[in-house]
Amino acid sequence: MTTEHLDEHTQFERYPFRDSVNAMVDKAIDLMDLPPGLPEHIKFNDTVLQIHFPVKLSDGHYHTFKGFRAVHSNHFSPVKGGIRFNAAVNRDEVEALSSLMTYKCALVNVPFGGSKGGLRINPKAYSVEDLEKITRAFAKILIERGYISPSENVPAPDMGTGPREMAWIADTYKNLRPNDINYFACVTGKPVGAGGINGRHEATGRGLQYVIREFFRHTEDVKLAKLEGDLDGKRVVVQGLGNVGYHAAKFLAEEDGAKVITIIERQGALHNPKGLDVEAVRQWLTETGGIADFPGATFTTNGLAALETDCDILIPAALESQITNENAHRISTKLIVEGANGPVTIEAAEILQERGIVVLPDALCNAGGVTVSYFEWIKNLSHIRFGRMQRRLDEYRGSKLVETLEVMTGKKVPEHLKEALVQGADELSLVRSGLDDTMRGAYQDVSEVFHRKDKIKTFRTAAIYSAIEKVVFTYENMGV
Ligand code: GLU
Repeated sequence: MTTEHLDEHTQFERYPFRDSVNAMVDKAIDLMDLPPGLPEHIKFNDTVLQIHFPVKLSDGHYHTFKGFRAVHSNHFSPVKGGIRFNAAVNRDEVEALSSLMTYKCALVNVPFGGSKGGLRINPKAYSVEDLEKITRAFAKILIERGYISPSENVPAPDMGTGPREMAWIADTYKNLRPNDINYFACVTGKPVGAGGINGRHEATGRGLQYVIREFFRHTEDVKLAKLEGDLDGKRVVVQGLGNVGYHAAKFLAEEDGAKVITIIERQGALHNPKGLDVEAVRQWLTETGGIADFPGATFTTNGLAALETDCDILIPAALESQITNENAHRISTKLIVEGANGPVTIEAAEILQERGIVVLPDALCNAGGVTVSYFEWIKNLSHIRFGRMQRRLDEYRGSKLVETLEVMTGKKVPEHLKEALVQGADELSLVRSGLDDTMRGAYQDVSEVFHRKDKIKTFRTAAIYSAIEKVVFTYENMGV
């Protein structure tokens, strides 16, 4: 690879993501005994909306934008999946990502079908005012065509979008459907003050951390990756310090003792074998727009080459098709945890498998986002914050327990234990607890399939196999 920087256009064209997704689905389906005809139905998207729409921007000109929303599977309603703003968005990619959402939701037992949307735009090229106009215009069409609604199709943030865009979408929906009391549930990933939920912003990175922790609880799987022990001191390389990579790297370093030795961003990579301060690097990136001059670390401009840094855990959390048949044989890690969607191509996955490098797949690893989206959607439908009814009751009970213990023993309960006992769970703790439970369960299901089925050689195939099994179970019980 001669490209030094992460060039998304080139990578998309050279390694079509859709081909990769189709091939991995075929691989899983070949090992299953599905009724004739069903595999085709599973593979195809049910519907895809492709639109061109004009917006008059602040320069006084009309600009035409191209957007998509694909619905992969309606086996559950609503369907769910992010909307990305990216100049390389195309129909194939949106459809592939939409199918991935079906598998992701099935893996984490979230009752949604899969969907995905994209707007072909570089969001950084527009002022906030213009971006709002564009987002609202796009949302309006999607709402009018039934591609956004609390009961049918619920978008969320993705690459290039975040809470701000989700708030604009929710507000557009509310204006168009003033009689829908559940309007907040039309989109997730909103700001907490605008119908969002605590813990959604960190959710995908947090989910990654919970999956990795669960992996280290499975000694058989740890051995397979030629690793040992726990996360403490493990050398981590992360590609992409966006929402997913930043939170995952930060939590792994601050809470689990991992050492983030390399951070790869658009302009290149930062290295420090003693470990980088993720929070400081992120702040530097926000303030200066790059990582090049970050003090106390070496900077190299070849970001793709930095993926080959010797480490224990490699987390590609930026773009699709980053580890390909061109660099897979040079990757020098023991475990790859896919933070982005599709960072490892199908050909690369085969090379890595032959080399004994374990890959934990995207559909499992980054499902934390949609899991907490599910919690947010439930919160919006129930119109009440999690923990609101019971937090103080729990605190009261806890303090009575402490009092009882002290009266009965005549001794003081140590302060740190007292604190843990008298604290009622707030929304953030409940969300984290629900997410942890979900990610552990999903990992266990995938690992179980991996070890049960001799013919399944990778966690990726195990994940898709497990997900399709669940989707088919729903079809069989509810009828197609
Ligand atoms: N865009 C995220 C994903 O790809 C989140 C989807 C959601 O929360 O609906 O998983």
